[in-house]
Amino acid sequence: METIKTDVVIIGSGVGGSAVARQIAGSGAKVLILERGDFLPNEPQNSDAEAVFGQARYKTKDEWQDAKGQRYRPGQYYYVGGHTKFYGTAMFRFRESDFDATEMDGGTSPAWPFSYKDIEPYYDQAEQLYGVRGQTGVDPTEPPRAAFPHAPVPHEPTIAALAERLSEQGLHPFHMPSAIDFGPGGTCRRCGTCDAFACRFDAKGDAETRVLRPLLAHPDVRLERCARVTRLRTDAQGQRIVAAEVSRGGEVFHVEASTFVLSAGAINSALILLRSACEAAPDGLANRSGVVGRYLMNHHLTGLMGVNPFAVNGTRFPKTLSVNDFYHGLPGDADARGNVQMLGNIQGAMIRATYPATPHVLANWLGRHSVDVLAMSEDLPNPDSRVRWRDGDQVEVDYQPGGSAAHDRFVRHVKRVLRRTGFPMVLRHSFGIQAPSHQCGTVRMGDDPKASALNDLCRAHDHPNLYVVDAGFFPSSAALNPALTIAAQALRVGAHLRQEIGAGMTRD
Ligand SMILES: Cc1cc2nc3c(=O)[nH]c(=O)nc-3n(C[C@H](O)[C@H](O)[C@H](O)COP(=O)(O)OP(=O)(O)OC[C@H]3O[C@@H](n4cnc5c(N)ncnc54)[C@H](O)[C@@H]3O)c2cc1C
Repeated sequence: METIKTDVVIIGSGVGGSAVARQIAGSGAKVLILERGDFLPNEPQNSDAEAVFGQARYKTKDEWQDAKGQRYRPGQYYYVGGHTKFYGTAMFRFRESDFDATEMDGGTSPAWPFSYKDIEPYYDQAEQLYGVRGQTGVDPTEPPRAAFPHAPVPHEPTIAALAERLSEQGLHPFHMPSAIDFGPGGTCRRCGTCDAFACRFDAKGDAETRVLRPLLAHPDVRLERCARVTRLRTDAQGQRIVAAEVSRGGEVFHVEASTFVLSAGAINSALILLRSACEAAPDGLANRSGVVGRYLMNHHLTGLMGVNPFAVNGTRFPKTLSVNDFYHGLPGDADARGNVQMLGNIQGAMIRATYPATPHVLANWLGRHSVDVLAMSEDLPNPDSRVRWRDGDQVEVDYQPGGSAAHDRFVRHVKRVLRRTGFPMVLRHSFGIQAPSHQCGTVRMGDDPKASALNDLCRAHDHPNLYVVDAGFFPSSAALNPALTIAAQALRVGAHLRQEIGAGMTRD
């Protein structure tokens, strides 16, 4: 069996893994990134709703099951760059209060082991790296911050009119922070597909385009594609990680390194740690506390389609507007809270992929006559919400969201707001865990090793040379999109690792 030796191995090339690699490159350490997927092909189907949604061309063919044993193909995408290849480019910072503990209807949102101030400089770096466009001074919940690297993406006419009508209701709509290369000299062509599609023009600020591709020119950084890590191996004491076991096209090989960074995404990282159980760590690696695979969160995500039979919405890039006036609660109902933001363009084929009984004509008509909004609330952590292996090889996702009743009240309010902006009919769709787009929390950070798997720098309490740097580290989900926070913390962890490498602590 082949064995590769390197200094630092990073498992997963998503927003977390790529940012760590970027920080370490040039430190003198050899970095090997192991990615189970390949490069996403650039092809016409990238922006074809029938191919992406109807035929699920890019979705994994793996099957998972729910707690009742129902099998399904999850909305997981395994490519170089991870889920950012398909993400909607909304790049929000969490609010200062998101890092503190808050009691809510349905449970507690726990504190993070660091504050907004600690991560703020890395948010600045992450926004630069991803080329985020935005506007300061309007969002009433905005944390202290420097100016955005780029001016906001301007609204198209329908969205500008919506913003005006929201302002008339006393709200403070603002330009949504977005990682899109739009503007003079930019590559965005407003092609009309973005959220949930891959970009054919490199205009989407995804981890491959913005971080990995330039990094791969570095002589010390190597990417192994189609290389799926199945487990990690420890020394006899179960302390240090010594190797990753990798499967590629039926062949198995080992990678030995001084430092291991697991960034396979919240669900897959937990599964790898659980799969790596050994005599010295019978419940899985980094799991003396028993938290690995538990506290799975995904946000409460409800799509609202405001339909106006008398107006056609010709917007190409609608994701320019957001509202945070209800982030800390509705008047008189502090628990009903969350963020409101535009979804991407909804097309008939997308509606039919979820509701196949909808006639083509009706689905296409709805797509043309609607504005599409996402209402997002915090999902509260619950130890019984978990992912694990069943019967050897079967992945079970037993998701138990926290705070659903409060989200429902929030959604009813947002529906009323949307109706008042001129949409007499508002349809509602809940995004469930079968598309775990905002998955997080399964390898949580914390100060207490008895109640968490990782310290504030994402290092495993149980293993001095293991870091887990993806959305799994979130102790709470906040009510904003996760990618920028993953990137910022990954840059923070990477800076720490670079220092350690400089001090000769991670090299053999
Ligand atoms: C349709 C969609 C829209 C979204 N829109 C937004 C948005 O607008 N804003 C936002 O902030 N977030 C958005 N998200 C969420 C965001 O994309 C994710 O939170 C983020 O990309 C997760 O990054 P990660 O590094 O934690 O994991 P991932 O992106 O999942 O990266 C993990 C990587 O590890 C690889 N991998 C997995 N298992 C293994 C293994 N065993 N061995 C080797 N490699 C492995 C995967 O292929 C992947 O490349 C969206 C997600 C989706 C699906």
